[in-house]
Amino acid sequence: MSIIHYKNQFLTALKPLYGVDEALSLFYISTEEVLGLGKIDIAMNPNFVLDSTQETLLNSYKERLENWEPIQYIIGETNFYGLDFKVTRDTLIPRPETEALVDWLVHDLEGKEVSILDLGTGSGCIAISLAKYLPNAKMCAMDFSEKALAIAKQNALKNGVKIEFIQQDILKLSAFETTFDIVVSNPPYVRNLEKEAMRPNVLDYEPDSALFVSDKDPFIFYRKIAELCSKSTPKQLYFEINEYLGEEMKSLVEQLGGTEVELKEDFRGKQRMLKVNF
Ligand code: GLN
Repeated sequence: MSIIHYKNQFLTALKPLYGVDEALSLFYISTEEVLGLGKIDIAMNPNFVLDSTQETLLNSYKERLENWEPIQYIIGETNFYGLDFKVTRDTLIPRPETEALVDWLVHDLEGKEVSILDLGTGSGCIAISLAKYLPNAKMCAMDFSEKALAIAKQNALKNGVKIEFIQQDILKLSAFETTFDIVVSNPPYVRNLEKEAMRPNVLDYEPDSALFVSDKDPFIFYRKIAELCSKSTPKQLYFEINEYLGEEMKSLVEQLGGTEVELKEDFRGKQRMLKVNF
Protein backbone atom coordinates (compact mmCIF):
# COMPACT_ATOMS: atom_id res chain seq x y z
CA MET A 1 0.00 0.00 0.00
CA SER A 2 1.25 3.51 -0.70
CA ILE A 3 2.04 5.78 2.22
CA ILE A 4 -0.56 8.34 1.14
CA HIS A 5 -3.25 5.68 1.10
CA TYR A 6 -2.09 4.40 4.46
CA LYS A 7 -2.18 7.92 5.88
CA ASN A 8 -5.90 8.14 5.11
CA GLN A 9 -6.58 4.86 6.92
CA PHE A 10 -4.54 5.96 9.92
CA LEU A 11 -6.27 9.32 10.16
CA THR A 12 -9.74 7.87 9.68
CA ALA A 13 -9.10 5.59 12.64
CA LEU A 14 -7.54 8.18 14.95
CA LYS A 15 -9.28 11.46 14.12
CA PRO A 16 -12.45 10.67 16.07
CA LEU A 17 -10.38 10.03 19.19
CA TYR A 18 -7.69 12.67 19.03
CA GLY A 19 -8.92 15.32 16.59
CA VAL A 20 -7.23 16.06 13.30
CA ASP A 21 -4.14 17.94 14.48
CA GLU A 22 -3.08 15.40 17.09
CA ALA A 23 -3.92 12.47 14.77
CA LEU A 24 -1.66 13.98 12.11
CA SER A 25 1.12 14.54 14.55
CA LEU A 26 0.79 10.92 15.80
CA PHE A 27 0.95 9.74 12.18
CA TYR A 28 4.21 11.57 11.49
CA ILE A 29 5.79 10.50 14.80
CA SER A 30 4.91 6.90 13.84
CA THR A 31 6.27 7.13 10.29
CA GLU A 32 9.45 8.79 11.51
CA GLU A 33 9.96 5.94 13.97
CA VAL A 34 8.98 3.04 11.68
CA LEU A 35 10.15 4.31 8.28
CA GLY A 36 12.57 7.07 9.14
CA LEU A 37 10.33 9.35 7.04
CA GLY A 38 8.96 12.62 8.36
CA LYS A 39 6.32 15.02 7.10
CA ILE A 40 8.44 16.53 4.31
CA ASP A 41 9.75 13.13 3.10
CA ILE A 42 6.19 11.86 2.84
CA ALA A 43 4.96 14.98 1.05
CA MET A 44 7.76 14.49 -1.47
CA ASN A 45 7.23 10.71 -1.89
CA PRO A 46 3.47 10.17 -1.63
CA ASN A 47 3.72 6.97 -3.64
CA PHE A 48 6.30 5.35 -1.37
CA VAL A 49 5.15 1.73 -0.99
CA LEU A 50 5.12 0.15 2.46
CA ASP A 51 6.47 -3.38 2.67
CA SER A 52 4.53 -5.88 4.76
CA THR A 53 6.78 -5.56 7.84
CA GLN A 54 6.41 -1.78 7.84
CA GLU A 55 2.66 -2.02 7.37
CA THR A 56 2.32 -4.53 10.20
CA LEU A 57 4.35 -2.36 12.54
CA LEU A 58 2.43 0.80 11.65
CA ASN A 59 -0.82 -1.11 12.16
CA SER A 60 0.28 -2.15 15.61
CA TYR A 61 1.04 1.53 16.44
CA LYS A 62 -2.40 2.47 15.10
CA GLU A 63 -4.15 -0.16 17.19
CA ARG A 64 -2.28 0.77 20.35
CA LEU A 65 -3.12 4.44 19.76
CA GLU A 66 -6.76 3.47 19.22
CA ASN A 67 -6.58 2.01 22.73
CA TRP A 68 -5.24 5.37 23.95
CA GLU A 69 -1.74 4.11 24.70
CA PRO A 70 0.61 7.11 24.81
CA ILE A 71 2.92 7.29 21.78
CA GLN A 72 5.89 7.73 24.14
CA TYR A 73 5.25 4.28 25.66
CA ILE A 74 4.76 2.75 22.21
CA ILE A 75 8.09 4.12 21.03
CA GLY A 76 9.66 3.66 24.46
CA GLU A 77 11.33 7.03 24.33
CA THR A 78 10.67 10.74 24.60
CA ASN A 79 12.52 14.01 24.43
CA PHE A 80 12.79 16.32 27.43
CA TYR A 81 14.81 19.53 27.65
CA GLY A 82 16.68 18.53 24.47
CA LEU A 83 17.66 15.10 25.78
CA ASP A 84 16.36 11.60 24.98
CA PHE A 85 14.80 9.54 27.76
CA LYS A 86 13.66 5.95 27.85
CA VAL A 87 10.14 5.70 29.30
CA THR A 88 8.01 2.73 30.31
CA ARG A 89 4.71 2.37 32.12
CA ASP A 90 6.68 2.40 35.36
CA THR A 91 7.54 6.05 34.83
CA LEU A 92 5.50 9.16 34.22
CA ILE A 93 6.01 10.63 30.76
CA PRO A 94 8.05 13.83 31.18
CA ARG A 95 5.86 16.91 30.61
CA PRO A 96 6.73 20.23 28.95
CA GLU A 97 5.69 22.12 32.10
CA THR A 98 8.44 20.26 33.95
CA GLU A 99 10.95 21.57 31.40
CA ALA A 100 10.07 25.03 32.69
CA LEU A 101 10.93 23.94 36.22
CA VAL A 102 14.31 22.60 35.06
CA ASP A 103 14.88 25.82 33.15
CA TRP A 104 14.27 27.87 36.31
CA LEU A 105 16.95 25.94 38.22
CA VAL A 106 19.40 26.03 35.31
CA HIS A 107 19.10 29.83 35.12
CA ASP A 108 19.36 30.32 38.89
CA LEU A 109 22.27 27.94 39.41
CA GLU A 110 24.39 28.24 36.27
CA GLY A 111 28.07 27.81 37.08
CA LYS A 112 27.48 27.21 40.81
CA GLU A 113 28.94 24.29 42.74
CA VAL A 114 25.80 23.10 44.48
CA SER A 115 24.43 19.79 45.68
CA ILE A 116 20.91 19.02 44.45
CA LEU A 117 18.43 16.37 45.54
CA ASP A 118 15.55 15.39 43.22
CA LEU A 119 12.70 13.74 45.12
CA GLY A 120 10.44 11.33 43.20
CA THR A 121 12.69 11.24 40.17
CA GLY A 122 10.67 8.77 38.02
CA SER A 123 12.37 8.56 34.62
CA GLY A 124 15.11 10.79 36.03
CA CYS A 125 14.26 13.62 33.63
CA ILE A 126 14.76 16.47 36.15
CA ALA A 127 17.93 15.12 37.77
CA ILE A 128 19.53 14.11 34.48
CA SER A 129 18.79 17.40 32.70
CA LEU A 130 20.16 19.32 35.69
CA ALA A 131 23.29 17.15 35.75
CA LYS A 132 23.77 17.75 32.05
CA TYR A 133 23.24 21.51 32.06
CA LEU A 134 24.77 22.23 35.49
CA PRO A 135 28.01 20.26 35.21
CA ASN A 136 29.34 21.72 38.49
CA ALA A 137 26.37 20.43 40.47
CA LYS A 138 26.42 17.23 42.48
CA MET A 139 23.16 15.36 41.78
CA CYS A 140 21.31 12.88 43.89
CA ALA A 141 17.89 11.42 43.00
CA MET A 142 15.38 9.46 45.06
CA ASP A 143 12.33 7.38 44.22
CA PHE A 144 10.34 4.76 46.08
CA SER A 145 9.93 2.65 42.93
CA GLU A 146 12.66 0.15 42.12
CA LYS A 147 11.34 -0.17 38.57
CA ALA A 148 11.40 3.59 37.97
CA LEU A 149 14.93 3.81 39.38
CA ALA A 150 16.09 1.10 36.97
CA ILE A 151 14.85 3.26 34.08
CA ALA A 152 16.35 6.43 35.59
CA LYS A 153 19.74 4.70 35.87
CA GLN A 154 19.58 3.68 32.21
CA ASN A 155 18.70 7.27 31.31
CA ALA A 156 21.68 8.62 33.27
CA LEU A 157 23.96 6.26 31.33
CA LYS A 158 22.29 7.14 28.04
CA ASN A 159 22.91 10.84 28.67
CA GLY A 160 26.40 10.38 30.09
CA VAL A 161 25.83 11.88 33.54
CA LYS A 162 26.72 10.71 37.04
CA ILE A 163 23.95 10.69 39.61
CA GLU A 164 23.62 9.01 42.96
CA PHE A 165 20.32 7.13 43.03
CA ILE A 166 18.61 6.17 46.27
CA GLN A 167 15.57 3.95 46.68
CA GLN A 168 13.49 5.50 49.42
CA ASP A 169 9.87 6.34 50.12
CA ILE A 170 9.90 10.05 50.99
CA LEU A 171 6.87 9.66 53.24
CA LYS A 172 8.79 7.16 55.37
CA LEU A 173 11.90 9.31 55.68
CA SER A 174 12.49 11.00 59.05
CA ALA A 175 15.55 13.03 58.02
CA PHE A 176 17.93 13.45 55.08
CA GLU A 177 21.14 11.50 55.63
CA THR A 178 23.25 14.17 53.98
CA THR A 179 22.62 17.87 53.51
CA PHE A 180 21.80 19.39 50.15
CA ASP A 181 21.89 22.99 48.98
CA ILE A 182 18.86 22.58 46.76
CA VAL A 183 15.89 20.23 46.78
CA VAL A 184 13.68 19.87 43.72
CA SER A 185 10.54 17.81 43.31
CA ASN A 186 7.63 17.14 40.99
CA PRO A 187 5.66 14.94 43.38
CA PRO A 188 2.17 13.50 42.75
CA TYR A 189 -0.28 16.39 43.01
CA VAL A 190 -3.40 15.61 40.97
CA ARG A 191 -6.51 15.23 43.13
CA ASN A 192 -8.96 12.43 42.40
CA LEU A 193 -11.61 15.07 41.73
CA GLU A 194 -9.54 16.21 38.73
CA LYS A 195 -9.69 12.77 37.08
CA GLU A 196 -12.88 13.66 35.24
CA ALA A 197 -11.04 16.14 33.02
CA MET A 198 -8.27 13.67 32.18
CA ARG A 199 -7.97 11.44 29.14
CA PRO A 200 -7.56 7.65 29.06
CA ASN A 201 -3.98 7.94 27.79
CA VAL A 202 -3.05 9.30 31.23
CA LEU A 203 -5.61 7.50 33.40
CA ASP A 204 -5.20 4.01 31.91
CA TYR A 205 -1.47 3.97 31.26
CA GLU A 206 0.59 6.23 33.48
CA PRO A 207 1.48 5.15 37.02
CA ASP A 208 -1.18 6.32 39.52
CA SER A 209 1.46 6.52 42.22
CA ALA A 210 3.28 9.24 40.27
CA LEU A 211 0.17 11.34 39.66
CA PHE A 212 -2.55 11.13 42.27
CA VAL A 213 -3.08 12.28 45.81
CA SER A 214 -6.24 12.13 47.90
CA ASP A 215 -8.71 15.00 47.69
CA LYS A 216 -8.45 15.33 51.48
CA ASP A 217 -4.70 15.81 51.63
CA PRO A 218 -3.33 17.01 48.28
CA PHE A 219 -0.24 18.50 49.97
CA ILE A 220 0.98 15.31 51.62
CA PHE A 221 4.26 15.20 49.68
CA TYR A 222 4.94 18.93 49.82
CA ARG A 223 4.37 19.08 53.57
CA LYS A 224 6.68 16.13 54.16
CA ILE A 225 9.42 17.56 51.92
CA ALA A 226 9.14 21.04 53.47
CA GLU A 227 9.33 19.51 56.95
CA LEU A 228 12.43 17.51 56.01
CA CYS A 229 14.03 20.66 54.63
CA SER A 230 13.16 22.83 57.62
CA LYS A 231 14.84 20.27 59.91
CA SER A 232 18.21 20.43 58.18
CA THR A 233 20.55 23.23 57.06
CA PRO A 234 19.10 26.25 55.20
CA LYS A 235 18.26 25.44 51.67
CA GLN A 236 16.22 26.30 48.67
CA LEU A 237 13.33 24.26 47.45
CA TYR A 238 11.85 24.15 43.95
CA PHE A 239 8.48 22.45 43.39
CA GLU A 240 6.25 21.72 40.46
CA ILE A 241 2.75 22.33 41.80
CA ASN A 242 -0.91 21.82 41.02
CA GLU A 243 -2.09 24.74 38.87
CA TYR A 244 -5.21 25.20 41.02
CA LEU A 245 -3.43 25.26 44.36
CA GLY A 246 -0.71 27.93 44.03
CA GLU A 247 -1.91 30.25 46.79
CA GLU A 248 -2.60 27.36 49.18
CA MET A 249 0.89 26.02 48.47
CA LYS A 250 2.38 29.42 49.26
CA SER A 251 0.56 29.57 52.62
CA LEU A 252 1.59 26.01 53.42
CA VAL A 253 5.33 26.57 52.95
CA GLU A 254 5.12 29.90 54.82
CA GLN A 255 3.37 28.20 57.76
CA LEU A 256 6.18 25.65 57.81
CA GLY A 257 8.81 28.38 58.10
CA GLY A 258 9.62 29.02 54.44
CA THR A 259 10.55 32.53 53.31
CA GLU A 260 10.87 34.44 50.03
CA VAL A 261 8.25 32.32 48.31
CA GLU A 262 8.05 32.83 44.57
CA LEU A 263 5.34 31.42 42.29
CA LYS A 264 5.95 31.04 38.57
CA GLU A 265 3.70 30.32 35.63
CA ASP A 266 4.29 27.70 32.95
CA PHE A 267 4.05 28.40 29.22
CA ARG A 268 0.26 27.96 29.40
CA GLY A 269 0.02 30.77 31.93
CA LYS A 270 -0.80 28.35 34.78
CA GLN A 271 0.72 28.80 38.23
CA ARG A 272 2.92 25.72 38.07
CA MET A 273 6.12 26.22 40.04
CA LEU A 274 7.14 27.47 43.44
CA LYS A 275 10.52 28.39 44.93
CA VAL A 276 11.04 28.85 48.65
CA ASN A 277 13.94 29.30 51.08
CA PHE A 278 14.18 27.34 54.30
N1 GLN B 1 1.32 17.63 35.25
C1 GLN B 1 0.97 16.25 35.35
C2 GLN B 1 -0.40 16.01 34.73
O1 GLN B 1 -1.24 16.86 34.78
C3 GLN B 1 0.98 15.78 36.80
C4 GLN B 1 2.34 15.61 37.36
C5 GLN B 1 2.31 15.26 38.81
O2 GLN B 1 1.33 14.82 39.41
N2 GLN B 1 3.39 15.49 39.42
O3 GLN B 1 -0.65 14.98 34.18
